[in-house]
Amino acid sequence: MSYDEYYVKSVIRTISDWPEPGIEFRDITPIFKDPKARRMVAHAFVQRYMDMDLSAIACIDARGFLFGAIIAHELNLPLVLVRKKGKLPGDCVHQEYTLEYGTASVEMQSDALAEGDRVVLIDDLIATGGTILAAMTLIKKLGAEVVEAAALINLPDLGGATKIQDAGSPVFTLMAFEGH
Ligand code: AMP
Repeated sequence: MSYDEYYVKSVIRTISDWPEPGIEFRDITPIFKDPKARRMVAHAFVQRYMDMDLSAIACIDARGFLFGAIIAHELNLPLVLVRKKGKLPGDCVHQEYTLEYGTASVEMQSDALAEGDRVVLIDDLIATGGTILAAMTLIKKLGAEVVEAAALINLPDLGGATKIQDAGSPVFTLMAFEGH
């Protein structure tokens, strides 16, 4: 089944003014209720990464886990998690990043990746890029290389994808939405 951007976009639900006024929340949960859309998205990522020389898929808490798990399974690759602070047991590396109000922190287990690993990093959406940039820092701390950062949705008006590219990683997204 080939990827149909028009169809997948029509399945994504937009909720205005959530979680705060001015945000157009792009809700990807309906994709998981719609096996056709889910298969199209999975297929698009799997096609792209099938012949790349990768050693792992890394995915970001929490919606990135949903896509990451499918892609890693289909590509027969290890899956490693970038989680919000305090969720992972054992020895971890941490990275703080700035939000509009305050800071947040992401973590990976120290043995998740090693020198020489080649990783694609997956999330659902790129807004300011802060989350992916923090995750990239963690992956590099572990000695691995981010071959590409990927998300289903880009919000180009917020400039995150450009910041990620400026930080040295190619970016791949399946679609864009205007605004916040
Ligand atoms: P950022 O770090 O600014 O690129 O924000 C990306 C993270 O915040 C992703 O993990 C998204 O799930 C979430 N996010 C930010 N803006 C939106 C939005 N408009 N709709 C849905 N999720 C969003």
